[in-house]
Amino acid sequence: DLVAGLPTKLLIGGRDADSAHRATFGVRNPATGETFIDVADATETDAVSALDAAAAAQQSWSATPARERSVILRRAWELVVGRGEELALLMSLEMGKPLAESRSEVAYGAEFLRWFSEEATRIHGRYTHAPAGNGRILVTKQAVGPVLAITPWNFPLAMGTRKIAPALAAGCTMIVKPAEDTPLTLMVLGRIFVEAGLPGGVLSVLPTSNAAAISGALMADARLRKVTFTGSTAVGKRLIAQSADLVLRTSMELGGNAPFIVFDDADIDDAVQGALAAKMRNGGQACTAANRILVANAVRAEFTTKLTERISALAVGPGYEDGTRLGPLINERQLGAVAALVDDAVIHGATVLTGGHALGGAGYFYAPTVLTDIPSGARLLREEIFGPVAAITGFDTEDQAIASANDTEYGLAAYVYTRDVNRALRVSEALEAGLVGVNRGVVSDAAAPFGGLKQSGLGREGGPEGIEEYIETKYIALANP
Ligand code: ADP
Repeated sequence: DLVAGLPTKLLIGGRDADSAHRATFGVRNPATGETFIDVADATETDAVSALDAAAAAQQSWSATPARERSVILRRAWELVVGRGEELALLMSLEMGKPLAESRSEVAYGAEFLRWFSEEATRIHGRYTHAPAGNGRILVTKQAVGPVLAITPWNFPLAMGTRKIAPALAAGCTMIVKPAEDTPLTLMVLGRIFVEAGLPGGVLSVLPTSNAAAISGALMADARLRKVTFTGSTAVGKRLIAQSADLVLRTSMELGGNAPFIVFDDADIDDAVQGALAAKMRNGGQACTAANRILVANAVRAEFTTKLTERISALAVGPGYEDGTRLGPLINERQLGAVAALVDDAVIHGATVLTGGHALGGAGYFYAPTVLTDIPSGARLLREEIFGPVAAITGFDTEDQAIASANDTEYGLAAYVYTRDVNRALRVSEALEAGLVGVNRGVVSDAAAPFGGLKQSGLGREGGPEGIEEYIETKYIALANP
């Protein structure tokens, strides 16, 4: 029923379109490994058609009154919320996450539409006098222009809306290239925007099995002005390099290696609850996922026992089945990558307290896992795990905790559990991370700036900062009258 009603075509210039080569590709259910639908496979030709439409619509869209842009975003928010159950089920089907988490993502993902519908009317410049008294300074804000958005599979809706909403609010047109593993959610969202009254060329959605071909064609075309990307650091670096040719603006949300620090004065039950969320939400497939759980040695045994109890009790199964707390990984490659990281740690001497293996059978399931006694050379301390694997290590002093936390080329999220507010602030300031959760295992909020330091990326999404990414500043120098 759900599948029968899904769109399967490209969305170009507000209309359904077949791929120029009539090609399609299959989308799999990660809980079974089976293809449940075939969708149009966009080519370079389709990408150029979408950019033709975006470039043609850019001027009139940015000149559309902000209030009208705002109303369209608001309507899209209402439609997404109204179709929340359908979208949640779809995300559980194509991505695998438990329904409860899909429902949370609908609320979170939709919120970007509402938040930026409000921000659309609050893009301000300024008027001032030159300090030397020789003229006026006017600063005005303008839309950047056509944008390419490339999104990942882990949050099929929210990773789209946090780019689409601020872009449209600012008056930019956008071409979205959803992840090939989970293209359907944004294909549905594209149709929701049509229903909400978005003019034709403003938003195109191009599922494809050949991401590099699409991004290559668009990034070589001078009509494109910006690339916004969420995904791996390796691909992000390639896109940054490619964006040099035409000096495209970039926003990059890349990988993470989040430390989760539990001090000896923390509320341990609360910290266990937070770690469970920061680690196991989305099956650990989040760039904010707690990658290294650093626990004060004085409370390490208690914390480890309690966390292991909770993790080993997680019900594993297809996301769309009642009672599931942990779904499958997204695909076979990820399953292999997680297994290889755990095996590497174990070979080097880590102890497995629970799990430590793939579950076998159909689908891409990995057992919820806790590792301790992790040797410093283990790869999973340096690399993003992206799976349901809690890696616990100990520390003695606050300085040691900070030094280990910062000992990574990444700098996205970090978490601190302590009852001491002075320590919380001191440590938060010392952490090299764009986001710090204090006594909270989940920090994302449409009203807050999300983004990383170091090799975790460039730019911020969400909050008033999120719209800046889609705005150019123009200075108009005015002679004295
Ligand atoms: P992951 O390893 O988590 O799948 P990726 O960085 O490979 O992360 O994927 C994130 C997004 O980037 C997806 O939409 C994917 O299709 C796209 N992508 C992958 N490789 C390239 C590339 N060479 N050029 C442009 N986009 C790419």
